[in-house]
Amino acid sequence: MTKRIDGKAAALDVRQQVAKGVEAFRKQTGRAPGLAVVLVGDDPASTVYVGSKGKATLEAGMESFTHRLPADTTQDELLSLVERLNDDSKVDGILVQLPLPDQIDADAVLDAIDPAKDVDGFHILNAGKLAVGQQALVPCTPYGCLHLLKHEHDDLSGKHALVIGRSNIVGKPMAQLLLGENATVTIAHSRTRDLQALAREADIVVAAVGRAEMVKGDWIKPGATVIDVGINRLPPEEGKSKGKLVGDVAYDEAAENAGAITPVPGGVGPMTIAMLLRNTLVAAHQREELEAPAI
Ligand code: NAD
Repeated sequence: MTKRIDGKAAALDVRQQVAKGVEAFRKQTGRAPGLAVVLVGDDPASTVYVGSKGKATLEAGMESFTHRLPADTTQDELLSLVERLNDDSKVDGILVQLPLPDQIDADAVLDAIDPAKDVDGFHILNAGKLAVGQQALVPCTPYGCLHLLKHEHDDLSGKHALVIGRSNIVGKPMAQLLLGENATVTIAHSRTRDLQALAREADIVVAAVGRAEMVKGDWIKPGATVIDVGINRLPPEEGKSKGKLVGDVAYDEAAENAGAITPVPGGVGPMTIAMLLRNTLVAAHQREELEAPAI
């Protein structure tokens, strides 16, 4: 029978381990790890994400610093805030919520974050370290996916993994992490030919595209593990104000073939915040030259 992978439970477990780590860190250093989150503008989804991140940070026993800037903030103003946060000894992690308004060059902002505080793992130094197999702060969503996969498989070595999507924040780091676990990795993207055939060969499918229910049930090899990163809102049904949230995988169909599969919502989503807290705890330990707990 197909197993529904419970991302909420896995995330809760990580968050409890982080909270314990925070307590120990506080005892050792006399202070709590601190996470600064910067929101520019009032995009509704970003506002919700930033609120949840702040709440989760406090629940883990960390200090939370939220900076809400107006939509017309200039690049220089944002860069000077990043510089202040880089210099602030109470701040161990800095996250600038994406997307940023058009007048701001997101790459320049991400590059300005101190790589030691780059808890999103988007700085090119951390991306480069991950690519060459050095210890790095790893992007939270793919790291959360790897955590779920390792829970399902004692050993990913030699498994054929298909990552659908090649973005810098999900697809590429996901592929690097799977390579690091000795999986045989195929990366598919918008120009890939015959995606279905590739999917049918895969022991592991990670879908990170942003297209509602694109991956069909008969693409999935019997027994494969399916990790669905996509978050897509369908048009509202009659009489409803909001449409249903679905992933990139047609869940009901795929569940008939898969050995294990993440639902949307309740799969990868909760893992992202859990891994952000984990990265902040790790960054805090590294800044204090202490050994971080293995989470
Ligand atoms: P993106 O738009 O940056 O990248 C999408 C990728 O999909 C691209 O590399 C593109 O080449 C590929 N693609 C597009 N059409 C394709 C097709 N027909 N066949 C194969 N590949 C195709 O998106 P992203 O930021 O990587 O996010 C992907 C999805 O994951 C989105 O739905 C996003 O909302 C979701 N997401 C979820 C979380 C979470 O916490 N659960 C975090 C980040 C992103």
